Amino acid sequence: MKINQNYLNLQESYLFRTIAQKVNAYKAEHPEADIIRFGIGDVTRPLAPAVVEAMGKAVREMGDAATFRGYDDGGVGYDFLREAIAGYYAARGVDVGADEIIVSDGAKSDVGNILDIFGSGAAAVVPDPVYPVYVDTNIMAGNKIIYAGGNESNGFLPPPPSSEAADIIYICSPNNPTGAVYSREGLAAWVDYALRSGAVILFDAAYEAFITDPGLPRSIFEIEGARRCAVEICSFSKLAGFTGVRCGYSVVPRELVSADGHPLFELWKRRQTTKFNGVSYITQRGAEAALSPEGLAQCRENIAYYRENARITGSALSKLGIEYFGGVNAPYIWLRCPDGMDSWEYFDKLLGEKNVVGTPGGGFGENGKHFFRLTAFGSRENVVRAMERIGG
Ligand code: PLP
Repeated sequence: MKINQNYLNLQESYLFRTIAQKVNAYKAEHPEADIIRFGIGDVTRPLAPAVVEAMGKAVREMGDAATFRGYDDGGVGYDFLREAIAGYYAARGVDVGADEIIVSDGAKSDVGNILDIFGSGAAAVVPDPVYPVYVDTNIMAGNKIIYAGGNESNGFLPPPPSSEAADIIYICSPNNPTGAVYSREGLAAWVDYALRSGAVILFDAAYEAFITDPGLPRSIFEIEGARRCAVEICSFSKLAGFTGVRCGYSVVPRELVSADGHPLFELWKRRQTTKFNGVSYITQRGAEAALSPEGLAQCRENIAYYRENARITGSALSKLGIEYFGGVNAPYIWLRCPDGMDSWEYFDKLLGEKNVVGTPGGGFGENGKHFFRLTAFGSRENVVRAMERIGG
């Protein structure tokens, strides 16, 4: 048989699998250890009551012949949810049409799957450090990766590269893992660069709900010209705790066409309706409820809870004299490993001495090698206990 040789260029193991293996090995040797896990950025708060109620109602509809539903015909999401998402943007003054939205089972799928429509051998600009899925999916697709370096001097918000022409540009703001958020001017520079080089921006807004500073953009479509060069990918995972429910969406503006005149929305819709049969009706009703005034207020209570975790973590680190970024408009705290340690060394030390698991910055790119990510998604009790242990 013939395999996709690009897969052989992938690093042996995905970051979170390596962490899990290390933790499991430690657990096997120390079965009594009470390990606090801040490794994977998973949420811990339960679904909002409005979501639970809507999903329960949808289950009952599915159990009644009169209201039962099978395949979602269009395969791009029910109108009720696409309209609710358009309304979510409109409330922020961003004009997005319901017919520009495609509902999916999450941002991770969209980030990876959308590469199908660009073909192989594209030049992809990827920030370093960033969510590792961008790198791996481009390796799988046989694309060339051009890194845009984030570091302390640019606040982990890399500007566009000066020379190389790009086909695809990834922007993640608020950033995973650094918690850094682009200003309007910062994003405008990327939009200009994309328009100049004829590239498409894939804007990952998975953490937009954590932005509370009204001066910071929550959508790329707040930037002039973005409708001609950007796709926005977003998720209910962090807004509404849907990491286990699974629902996301992409916004592809009508104006976005390839150099040879093909509307990207149509290509992406063709891809999705060919390889994906849509998100469950029950899930889509839950997502709709998350965007209702009541649902949003409940989701924001959970976000406020995580933000307080971030504040507690940040103030404990400051007391310890550990320098960090993020943690204000984002659920991630990005700290410099103490004593010049490498991030995996610090991981082993925290696991072994404090029984606390975080995420080594090196797993997010070369520029993360001396940094470490803590998430604010844990329970309050665990955040407090972990910070006491780290400080002790
Ligand atoms: N994009 C970023 C930047 C993320 O950090 C994550 C998950 O941690 C995702 C996408 C995945 O989101 P989803 O759960 O919708 O697949």
